[in-house]
Amino acid sequence: MSRVLVVEDEAHLAQGLRFNLQAEGHAVEVAGDGETALDRLIEKRERFDAVVLDVMLPGKSGFEVAALLREKKNYVPILMLTARGRPEDVLEGFAAGADDYLPKPFELAILIARLESLLRRSVWMQDSDPASAGDGTGTSNDNGQTRLAPSGERETGGDTFSFCGKSIDFRELELRSLGNTIHLTVMEAEFLRYLVRSEGRVVSRKAILEDVWGLHEDTDTRAIDNFVVRLRRYIEEDPSRPKHLQTVRGVGYRFVAEPE
Ligand code: CA
Repeated sequence: MSRVLVVEDEAHLAQGLRFNLQAEGHAVEVAGDGETALDRLIEKRERFDAVVLDVMLPGKSGFEVAALLREKKNYVPILMLTARGRPEDVLEGFAAGADDYLPKPFELAILIARLESLLRRSVWMQDSDPASAGDGTGTSNDNGQTRLAPSGERETGGDTFSFCGKSIDFRELELRSLGNTIHLTVMEAEFLRYLVRSEGRVVSRKAILEDVWGLHEDTDTRAIDNFVVRLRRYIEEDPSRPKHLQTVRGVGYRFVAEPE
């Protein structure tokens, strides 16, 4: 059973979400404003598996709440509820550290599907199963795909990928670089995994949105760019002159593990 925190001031909507998510088997708590949510998540250190966070809240906005959580090193998966027709909300939400978003008004079935997807990824990413890590059978790690390291010497075992002195640990959601450990959100890790799998190939923004976020609707593909900016800060020596996460103008992005 997952614990979900719904942060929404409109009582009927919050209760509707609570009722329906409980019917899906989740334990649901409701916070009517951002301050309450921050108090529970940061001050009281309550553990939740996901947060459904409305943007429009009294007091602190959903953007501020997400940004504060990430600033305080809380990486709980966040599904942000934005206002329809405001693509800038989506961009701002991703920039603030949201993992996924849904425009309001939404269909309940879609919200549940998005939330389940975030929870599944979270579990899958963090599923520490040391028994299977060293079984030596070369098991595939998801969807029947082969291990992600494109060549033997870069594979360091378990669910990690190492390149140029950096190491991404997909299970711990960590990126280690020169003695620094950066914590990744679920979707940052998922995006990195996708890029690593596509190493050397150009991937379009549209393909990224579809394959990583499962977004098939006509989303503003610039949403991806916010994630790219963050990932570059993590993996590039000079984020303004990226060598690993390259922009391919007019097309998309290309990840190169070991540039010349
Ligand atoms: Ca609201």
